[in-house]
Amino acid sequence: MEVENGHGTNRGASRRGGVATLEVGAVQLYRNYIDGRWVESSTGETFESTNPATGEVLGRVTKSGREDVERAVAAARQSFERWRRVPAPRRGEILFRAGEIMRQRKEDLARLMTREMGKVIAEARGDVQEGIDMTFYMAGEGRRLAGETVPVELPNKFGMSVRDPIGVIACITPWNFPFAIPTWKMMPALVAGNTVVFKPASDTPLVAHALVGILEEAGLPPGVINLVFGPGDTVGEALLAHPDVDMVSFTGSTEAGKHVAQKADETLKRVHLELGGKNAIIVMDDADLDLALEGIVWSAFGTTGQRCTAASRLIVHRAVREALTERLVSRINKLRLGNGLEPTTDVGPLINRRAVEKVHRYTEIGLQEGARLLTGGRPATDGELAKGSFYMPTLFTDVKPHMRIAQEEIFGPTTAIITVDGLEEAIEVNNRTGYGLSSSIYTRDVNRAFQAMRDITTGLVYVNAGTIGAEIQLPFGGTRGTGNGHREAGRAALEVYTEWKTIYVDYSGRLQRAQIDI
Ligand code: NAP
Repeated sequence: MEVENGHGTNRGASRRGGVATLEVGAVQLYRNYIDGRWVESSTGETFESTNPATGEVLGRVTKSGREDVERAVAAARQSFERWRRVPAPRRGEILFRAGEIMRQRKEDLARLMTREMGKVIAEARGDVQEGIDMTFYMAGEGRRLAGETVPVELPNKFGMSVRDPIGVIACITPWNFPFAIPTWKMMPALVAGNTVVFKPASDTPLVAHALVGILEEAGLPPGVINLVFGPGDTVGEALLAHPDVDMVSFTGSTEAGKHVAQKADETLKRVHLELGGKNAIIVMDDADLDLALEGIVWSAFGTTGQRCTAASRLIVHRAVREALTERLVSRINKLRLGNGLEPTTDVGPLINRRAVEKVHRYTEIGLQEGARLLTGGRPATDGELAKGSFYMPTLFTDVKPHMRIAQEEIFGPTTAIITVDGLEEAIEVNNRTGYGLSSSIYTRDVNRAFQAMRDITTGLVYVNAGTIGAEIQLPFGGTRGTGNGHREAGRAALEVYTEWKTIYVDYSGRLQRAQIDI
């Protein structure tokens, strides 16, 4: 059934400033957005979006099948020819309007995100802000999208390169940055003239719905952005296999990413992968320990450790290990768990119960491997916490670099101290994992800092700051199992979402043979 807007059967729900808001006791139905219309899926089935802090049901969401993917891809394909001919500055102006709407609704969006995903409200505001920054940045690219003009070797001949859009892009995104990550993909794709089919994570559909609602309101023509809700193993798979999808931009786990790459290869799609991380903070013997402590707590337990850049390893010089460990345990034990909407909460819930089980399995693995648990190591179930998916912030020590808790992504509030005796060993340990996203070093010695910048092999390196805190105007991404060499953000993102076209204009009026008539 088609409705005029995305908020058809409200039954007690209201729409404030474009963001679906929910009244107590009301459960709204959230629909797909295809060809400029909010529509229910062909399956007639729905799934729930729940608050991981309380278990409250926030909304029912239409569950798509193959037929819905067909419609969304057809709409994106059809609108591509028109959209790519809209002058890029005009495309950028629509993004600029979207950024303005996001800015006005920042608080509503952040609160919705905290309820649906769980991150504490200050971090949710940061997630929305990152999306705003990316939207404005890419809006500006509408007036740049620069190619090259270079001298050519023959007379009366002109050479230039221009950026062409790729076509229909499937954007498949995770739940941990439910606003920022979709904008990282969609904004460069759209400003470059591509059309999009967006499949958000099933844990955070409401935030995705709000984002697409804003793009509609900003004036994006029908078919340019399409939203399909539903499970990765059906809706995602259908996108991977679809011959009319030209490119898949995927952020998620390395395991799923490998599968995405294999499937997309069968139809020779372009693939952009941003995958897992096993990031480390190196603390040298000359480090400012107070500063390092702040960076560690923020990087390991911010977003409850559910960041691809979370610091789940601490590579600590033996000379400062004891002093750092003592302070760290004391800080961790003061962290307050709770609902992210409460201003007193430091650490919110994990995304769901499955995540609690996974994090706890890693605690057991760590203990079996001989690591020593210093604090945490169990689900948090006191009082109101029992209603949600909480896990105690966890610290291991006596961890060896080869152990599974030092090699595998846990994606929770767990970090592990590995002791080293010098900088070279620290860098060696830092680099020796299957991932390559983010690293940090705390040192006051400029020579050591530069050696680390030179020898660390991850895509991001921080000096005297934790492993998190990327800004949108610089490239973001990782080496090894973290991706396939592409980068999000900054102008590097435009490389991913455009094809180069090289054009020669010969105005000599005669045949001129390059490399021969010289
Ligand atoms: P995930 O389970 O791999 O899911 C990511 C997305 O892929 C979701 O939309 C999911 O749909 C979909 N999906 C799952 N199976 C699929 C399939 N067979 N075909 C197509 N799509 C499929 O990851 P997640 O748990 O959402 O996110 C956490 C992971 O993302 C971590 O590993 C984290 O490090 C990584 N991450 C990386 C970056 C980066 O920039 N490098 C940033 C953020 C997160 P459903 O939700 O319906 O299952």
